[in-house]
Amino acid sequence: MAGQPPATYLGAPVPADIADRWQKWEAARWRQGVWRAANRPYPPDERFNIRPPAELCPEHRRLWIAYRNMRFDEETGNRWPGYDGSPFQYQGTDMDALRNERRVEWDEKASEQMQLIERICLSGRSPQCTPSAVQPVQLALDLDTAA
Ligand SMILES: [Zn+2]
Repeated sequence: MAGQPPATYLGAPVPADIADRWQKWEAARWRQGVWRAANRPYPPDERFNIRPPAELCPEHRRLWIAYRNMRFDEETGNRWPGYDGSPFQYQGTDMDALRNERRVEWDEKASEQMQLIERICLSGRSPQCTPSAVQPVQLALDLDTAA
């Protein structure tokens, strides 16, 4: 997903304003909309296609990456945020559909948390904010190795 955005996505032409924001949430929502419009009910996780805003303070960047890295467990099927007490309940006959529904739900909730962290930090009024003391090279390493 890095580099230049494609001209089309699932056959849909990528609008210029979406291409300009290809690694931002607006483009992720657009891609998921295209996915669903193509009758595919379970869009892929977009969290790793998004870049955190450069303005995030180190503490909120850390939290942002932590939520990005929270993985849905296909084995247990635990619902967000994965605490105990939510074992995989087998209901109905389509186990794959249930697993996919929970995975999508998980991605959506993790994405919401990431966007909430952005809003909190960028509001400039969060007592959690830490002064920037991290070098840009360090940030790049964090981003690339956290996957
Ligand atoms: Zn902050």
